[in-house]
Amino acid sequence: MNPLETAREQLYAAQKIARIHPDIFERLLSPDRVIEVSVPVRMDTGKTKVFTGFRSQWNDSAGPYKGGIRFHPGVTREEVMALSAWMTWKTAVLGLPLGGGKGGVSVDVKTFSDRELEALSRAYMRSIAAFVGKNKDIPAPDVSTDPRVMGWMLDEYEILIGEKAPGVITGKPLSIGGSLVRDYATAQGAFFVLENAAQKLHLPDRARVAIQGFGNGGSHLARLLHESGYRVVAISDSQSTVYREEGLDVGEIETHKRATGSLKKCMGCESLPSEALLAVPCDILVPAALEGAISEKNVKEIQAKLIVEVANGPVTSEADALLFERGVVVVPDILANAGGVTVSYFEQVQNAMNAYWTESEIHQRLKEKMQAAFEVVWASHEKYNTTLRMGAYVVALERVALAMQARGRV
Ligand code: NAD
Repeated sequence: MNPLETAREQLYAAQKIARIHPDIFERLLSPDRVIEVSVPVRMDTGKTKVFTGFRSQWNDSAGPYKGGIRFHPGVTREEVMALSAWMTWKTAVLGLPLGGGKGGVSVDVKTFSDRELEALSRAYMRSIAAFVGKNKDIPAPDVSTDPRVMGWMLDEYEILIGEKAPGVITGKPLSIGGSLVRDYATAQGAFFVLENAAQKLHLPDRARVAIQGFGNGGSHLARLLHESGYRVVAISDSQSTVYREEGLDVGEIETHKRATGSLKKCMGCESLPSEALLAVPCDILVPAALEGAISEKNVKEIQAKLIVEVANGPVTSEADALLFERGVVVVPDILANAGGVTVSYFEQVQNAMNAYWTESEIHQRLKEKMQAAFEVVWASHEKYNTTLRMGAYVVALERVALAMQARGRV
């Protein structure tokens, strides 16, 4: 199944419970529009290459479209569409006054020089500039795009329109209107919902956590959990798993990984194959690496009682059903990793005020938003005796439907 088919299948499943107006449901199965653009880049060789880019705008009934831009060879029209649908449900679950969008360019930037990357970023922004804006559609970073790329894109946009417009894009460097906490917002948000879920399940103090993936999401979350007294017993990357029953010293693991580029040969820890992470004895499992990491093939090995999806789509639908049967609670991606878009929203709010919050103010606001969303989703899953994922989808569908109805879009 391609991601778009998966996204639609999830909606059909949620509609069986939510039963929103069928005409509204019909409209929510497709994006409002998908823009396809040619992105010409003069390469360092002097030759021009033309790449294909997209921006999918799924739904803007609750507010401007919002979603990242990825630079990756695997970017397709269908993928960008599906990701824009998921952004719509994510912003709805968090109750943000935003819709859902996503963009991307099908390109392998690994071999690009800095100059080529800047040219690509500026060319992509020029090609979609007519369709974005602080009250229209607000992009952000995603795979292979970062604050530096956002800075170039903002600059290009402001040159085109002839005035400052920091709210057109989020995930910017702090020096040009970025927000504190944005760099670890996804992990911080996941931490808050993990704490709520652990309480609901009465998990023990110093609960054992295994984290798959030690990139932006996984490494910040490992640090936050370690600092709060959780026992992070295992961490993996694409090469290996590092395991210690009494708990890892996350700071030391970070230093080791930075110094050697690997998790292997950490002092006092067991080294296991990468895929062994899913089977280690633990209370909480955090997939923070890949789509489809937990499938029918390996779901039986899982010992955790709670799974918190920091990655997008790490549990296949088949595995999800088996976990539900076994009573394993899965906090779905559209809730668990929504800290990033929530702080993106805070960034926009600060840009609009032209005044900036402290780190602790942002923590407090993020905690309130994540916890409120968690409680609403938990109540929905109890009410309908379904998974937290379906509980979250039902909340999202109902909220988007209300906004559609309020606009007379029936
Ligand atoms: P990243 O590229 O920084 O890190 C990915 C990590 O996964 C790396 O440590 C890599 O070694 C590891 N990995 C790759 N293959 C693996 C495998 N087979 N087994 C174990 N580990 C493996 O990426 P990221 O930004 O941390 O994103 C990870 C996931 O979280 C993605 O699904 C992404 O869409 C999702 N996500 C991230 C953010 C964010 O703000 N970073 C926000 C929302 C969702």
